[in-house]
Amino acid sequence: MKIALIAHDRKKDLMVRLVTAYKEVLKKHELYATGTTGKRVEEATGLSVHRFKSGPLGGDQQIGAMISEDALDLVIFLRDPLAAQPHEPDVTALIRLSDVYEIPLATNIGTAEVLLRGINAGFLDFREVVHDLETGPLSY
Ligand code: PGA
Repeated sequence: MKIALIAHDRKKDLMVRLVTAYKEVLKKHELYATGTTGKRVEEATGLSVHRFKSGPLGGDQQIGAMISEDALDLVIFLRDPLAAQPHEPDVTALIRLSDVYEIPLATNIGTAEVLLRGINAGFLDFREVVHDLETGPLSY
């Protein structure tokens, strides 16, 4: 499946620890990330990551575009709730699009761990069925 990884600056160490801990799970999937997050993850784990632009330079919107094309199955977005982001509208848009297209989204490490254990156990296999349905948000 296709998994997006995004971490705000103060959450990047946490993202690296998460990906390192779940490397055996994540190596079976295609990884996408905003620029700096992807670089950190690649350097720390050796996993191959498709890197978009840095978040504040449009990376969040590029991932949002993938979501709107039904080209992502899971988003792990370790956002920083205690710091204002220069690209706050992009952050909001990415979360909104995940909800529009019913994409599983984790915004903290607790949920991220549940989803990664879930994907490993096959709980996200329903995504394959969703891909077989016509594209577009399920409820419209
Ligand atoms: P970055 O972007 O991985 O390039 O730092 C993340 C973000 O701030 O959205």
